[in-house]
Formats: sequence, structure tokens, C-alpha cells
Amino acid sequence: MREFLRSAYGLEAAIRPLPGENHNVLVEHPGGRAVLKIATQGQEPGALALEHEAIEHLARGELGLGLPRTVPARDGAVVTAYPAAADVRLPARLSAFVTGTPWSELAAPDAALQVELGRTLARLAAALAGFAPAAGRRNHRWDLTRVDDLRPAIALVADLSRRRLLADAFHRWRALALPRLGELPASFIHGDANDENVLVANGHVVGLLDFGDALENPTVCELAVAMTYACLRQPDPLAVGARIVAGYQELRVLGDGERRALLPLVCGRLAASLATAAERRHTGAGTRNHFLTEEPAWELLARLLAVDPANAEAALTGAAAPPAAASGAGSLLARRRRRLGPSLSLAYDEPLEIVRGAGQYLYDRRGRPYLDLVNNVCHVGHCHPRVVAAGQRQMAILNTNTRYLYRELTDYAERLTATLPEPLRVCYFVNSGSEANELAVRLARAHTGRRGMLVVEGAYHGHTSTLIELSPYKFLGRGGSGRAAPWVGVVPMPDGYRGPHKGQGPAAGRAYGDAVGAALARATEPVAGLLVEPLLGCGGQIVPPAGYLERAYAHVRAAGGVCIADEVQVGFGRPGSHFWAFETQSVVPDVVVMGKPIGNGHPLAAVVTSPEIAASFANGMEFFSTFGGNPVSCAIGLAVLDVIAEEGLQERARALGGRFLDGLRELARRHELVGDVRGLGLFLGVELVADRRTLAPAAAAAAALVERMKRRGILLSTDGPLHNVLKIKPPLVLTRADVDHALLALDDELAHTGP
Ligand code: PMP
Repeated sequence: MREFLRSAYGLEAAIRPLPGENHNVLVEHPGGRAVLKIATQGQEPGALALEHEAIEHLARGELGLGLPRTVPARDGAVVTAYPAAADVRLPARLSAFVTGTPWSELAAPDAALQVELGRTLARLAAALAGFAPAAGRRNHRWDLTRVDDLRPAIALVADLSRRRLLADAFHRWRALALPRLGELPASFIHGDANDENVLVANGHVVGLLDFGDALENPTVCELAVAMTYACLRQPDPLAVGARIVAGYQELRVLGDGERRALLPLVCGRLAASLATAAERRHTGAGTRNHFLTEEPAWELLARLLAVDPANAEAALTGAAAPPAAASGAGSLLARRRRRLGPSLSLAYDEPLEIVRGAGQYLYDRRGRPYLDLVNNVCHVGHCHPRVVAAGQRQMAILNTNTRYLYRELTDYAERLTATLPEPLRVCYFVNSGSEANELAVRLARAHTGRRGMLVVEGAYHGHTSTLIELSPYKFLGRGGSGRAAPWVGVVPMPDGYRGPHKGQGPAAGRAYGDAVGAALARATEPVAGLLVEPLLGCGGQIVPPAGYLERAYAHVRAAGGVCIADEVQVGFGRPGSHFWAFETQSVVPDVVVMGKPIGNGHPLAAVVTSPEIAASFANGMEFFSTFGGNPVSCAIGLAVLDVIAEEGLQERARALGGRFLDGLRELARRHELVGDVRGLGLFLGVELVADRRTLAPAAAAAAALVERMKRRGILLSTDGPLHNVLKIKPPLVLTRADVDHALLALDDELAHTGP
């Protein structure tokens, strides 16, 4: 090293390694002190040159901070080649020693200094505003826009409460920061203004070290990183943060998005730091210095996560905190109970007041994000901007009814039928799944001249009078009549896990199909048709055994009946392998019923059938639904189809559903409580049992697990006739990170849930 300094720089120097993340050496020579930074092996080659360029850019301006300016080699080179071993040369840069005390060594930074730090960061942002080197478009482990790359390290944290904290930090970053990052102003930033790199003297910020992580990023990330470290070991971190933000905003006012993203970005930085520490601990790669901020980081994270995001944001930026929820008679719950029917239910022990939805997330009034794993209505994501815009646009142009000619209706009918096989070519549009099923039953009756219907055990098809009678889930459930109406035949649930043909593989498909034949033979009232979901939702997220519908449909058709597929829950790409769930059973229904996802939450539903059945229905009586098929609904329906296609959501359901299913199967191996895991695409079920031999349902455990997951910011619900099946049917815009997050949380919480 000394020889290298002599030959390359002409310096006779004493050397001393410096602590810290980098390979830095203090160089003391007769003319003064300098620091030699040697690149680590494998580091991108241009990194040191980029540091030099950034520092020179700042030195030309009026930032007024001491900077580690380059000491050129004898030949004028900025970056030299340090011979680390006989055949290894590593890039090196010698820089001026910057005097000052690192922020981390200050006994107690006072309020004025904290404000000044904010101001300094804003000045830094201004000084770097026009600097945009191509090499700045890089990424590395500390890039605050890519925190999720470090997520696998969560599993390395052994302590459960810490693992929960860390998972929550990633979750907050994903739900509150990530969706905004693309829209935030971006610029070249230092990227690592941590407490070792900010230097102080005489009560002022005087220097900034280590440009090694500099990169192009959302500008606010600079502030987030600096804040993270300045808040460590502080009794009131939000007050410290508020002072830094106040100083910053004296010179650069944060935009709305930046303000909202700030604290989640701090969580992201803490997550990155703690994940890195966990990795280093695991591989034994860390030195003592690597872990100096670990304990304070855990403490800070725990404090920040204990505050509701909306309140924390308010505390930090001086924005108005959300008003406290009214309690007692004035609470939303009490008001709802006074004005809405008592048969409406609410999910969760403590109901959630949701104020916003975006993508796969819902946000409550306190700003807490929830990963929505149950809402199959907001199929392409909550409030998808394309769908919202389509509805808004059309609403401002025309909304009318089907007694006029308008393009949207015809365009939509053509697009929708293009997703279906022949002879499903004729559409009827209505406003809900119930209405659509109701109409489907009318079609079957008109076509056959018969009245009887067959449905599956545990099925739900809608809330109208007729459909309650066609929903064993309802008429056999609480408050129901307790028996099937004479015109209704109930066939067995095609369940491969329970029931008479469990565990029989393909033979089960035929046997359950033949049970439909038997029901037809038994029926007291001639049967107009079979109404069945190709994947069964309320019945407990059941995937029928192969061959089931083929056999069942054959029996129904042989008896002159109509086969109706209720795709309200499961259609539109959710099965992943296919667009429609009936396709997974290799059948073509006579009538397909669509709802929920079709309008992404807008009240729209449809029935599609063959020209032949449509002709039978056209007996002279007009079919008219005031709102059904209006131009606004059609514009929305078209946008949903566009988004599914353009964002590749069916394929996404296939890939992520596969990942989810594999992960759930792994959980089943480790947790006795998990009796069965099943599903297709992003339509999944986890059946909990108290005893794997008797299959005794673990309904209380399922309910408890749902509550535990909600506390972790993950929304699930239970279903099935025994109330012991966790249902998973999220918006299809889910990500891998969401799947892994949910699996890790389920793993933790299953371990703490008894049967
Ligand atoms: N069919 C199925 C399979 C359903 O799950 C539902 C709603 N849960 C319906 C029909 C009724 O739809 P809607 O609530 O839109 O009337």
C-alpha cells in the first residue's frame, strides 16, 4: 500500500484502516491527510469515477460543504489501479480528508442543528438538480426504489416479534411508498447521508462524505435516508424528523406525493438496513461495525410502526392529522346500525373503516395499508386508473339505455363474446350477479318449458327470492327454511377432500357427475337446468375433480336440460390456465353468468347464451333492464377487458397462483392445522382441520387466523359450509412480494394458532 502511494501519488505516507462499510484507508503524509478508497471486488467499474464527477460538480457550486475531493495521481489520473494481490488490481481513488465530527458521535444534536440538516439536504438537492450523468442510472442494494429485493432476509430473523416488525416495514414500503415512486420528482442524489457521512463542527453541518451510493432516484429519498439515521437513538424520533423536514421545506417544499412517501421510505431504509444486517449475520460476513446501528434501528422501527401512518405523516410534515373517529352514538358504526338493516354483516371483530383503495391494497382512515387477498370484485386492482377514466369519460358524454342505438353496447357485446367459444354469442346485460342468475334461470325455463332446477350443496347464487331457494348455502344456513323447495334438487359437492368420493381421483369426477344423473332421475319436478359454479366459491373454494362437469352436463343434456355456468366469482382469467373456469373442465355451457369482476366494482353483470336459447326466450315479452348495458357500464366493461389483456393478468394469475399454491403446500407440510390446500390460479382455499384423520373442521382457528392476519395488514376471510376454509381470491394485480409476504405471515401465525 505504501509503495503504491509512493509510486502512484508520490506520497511518503503512514497508513491506517478506517472503520465503516467501505475499504477506506487513512493516509497521513507530510503535506496533510487523505483517504484512499479502494473499490470492492466486483463493484461496477465506473463507480469511483462517478463519485469524482459528482463531487466536482458540487465543488463548482456554492454548497459550502467540505467534500472528499479527488487527489489526482502523479499522472493526473482520478482513478488508479491498486494491486490488491499479484493478479488483482482494484480501482482506487485518493481524496482529501474532510474535517468534522460525524453526526453519529454527537452527544445530543440540538434542534437548530436538526433544522440545519434539513436545510442542507434541500441545498444539496438544488445543487444536484442539473446534474444527470448517465452512470447515475444505476441500482444497488441501498436503492430505496428496490427495497423488496432484500425481502428474503426477513426469514433469517429468528425472533418472531422482530420478524413481524421487519415484514411490516417492507409491507408499508410496498403499500405506501412504492406505488408513488414513479410519479415523484427524480434527480441525482448522494443517497447515503447517514450519520457517519454527515460531518458537524461548531454546531453546523460542515461536510458530506462517501458518494459511493450516489444514483438517480426520487429526490425525496435523500431526505428519507438522512432522516432515518438522524432519528436513531432519539427519544422522540418524529419530533426530530419534523425539524429536519421543516428545515428542508424552508428551501424546497415537498409535493403531496413526496410528503406521503417520506415515512414509508424511512421504513424502507430501516428494512434494508435490518435485512442486510440479518444477511450478514447469517453468512458471517459482517464485522462489528456493520451492526452498530442494528439495535437502534430495531427500536426506531418499532416506534415508527406503532404510530398510525396518517398521524405520523401529520407529525412529520405539519399536515392536519385525520380527525379522531367519533365514538359512542355518533360513531360510524352506531349511525350505520340506526339506518341500515341489521342483517348486514361486518367483517372482523373490530370493523375496518376503509377510505381508499389502490391496486391490491386498501387503506383505512388511519392510513394503514391492507393487502387485499379476498376481493375478487376489484379484479384488475382497486380503482384502476384506466377503468376509472373510462367510466368518468363516458359519464360525461352519454348515459342512456338499450332502447337507443349506441356503439358502446355493441362493441362490448362483441368483445365479451370473443372471449367465449361457440355457440355463446348472445348477451344480456344486467346490474348484479343475482340478476344475471335470475335471468339465466328464466332462459333455461323458457327454453325447456320446465321449472325444476339442480344446484350443488353449499352453493350460493344470489339474494333474490328465487336464488335464495337455489342457494343451499342460504336455505340450509342460519335463518333459512332448512329444506329445499320441491322444485329444487341438490346434488353433492364435488369435493375431493371430503364427501363420498374423496380421494378417488378421476373416478371421483365421474361419480360426482353421475350423482347429477341420479338427482335428475329423482326430481319430482321436470328439470329445466343445472346451475353450478365451475369452481365452487361459497362451497369452500372447491376445485371439482377432472371430468366432473363433462359427466354432469352429459346427464343434464340427455334429460333435455340446460347447463348454466355461474362464473360470477371465478371468471375473467382468475383460473390462470384459462380465461373461464368452465374451460378447466373441458365443457361448453349453454348459459354463462358473469358478475363481480366484470366491471371491477361497477355494478355490471351479464348473461351470455346461444342464439337458440335466446330465440326460445324471445316469446314476445320485452326484456328490459333500465341500467343494464348502459354506455357507462359498457365503457367500464371494455376497459376491464383491455386491462386484463394488456397487463397480462391471466398469465399473472397462473404464475402467482402457482407460487402461492406451492407456498401453501409447504405450509401444509409444517402445520398440522392445514388439512387441505387447493385452487387454480388466484382462486385458492386453505382448509383447516383439528384432526387430519377425522377432518374435524377447525372453524374457530380459521376465524382467529383471519383476525391475526388482519392485524398484520392482510385481509382474508373464511368460507365453506363448515366455515373452516380460508379463501384467497385477490385482485389479479398482486405481486410476487405480496404472495411471499402473505405466506411468511401465514407461516408465523399458523405456528401460533391452535385448533
Ligand atoms: N353467484 C355467485 C357464485 C356469487 O358468489 C354471488 C355473490 N357472492 C352471486 C352469484 C350474486 O352476485 P351479486 O351479489 O352481484 O348479486
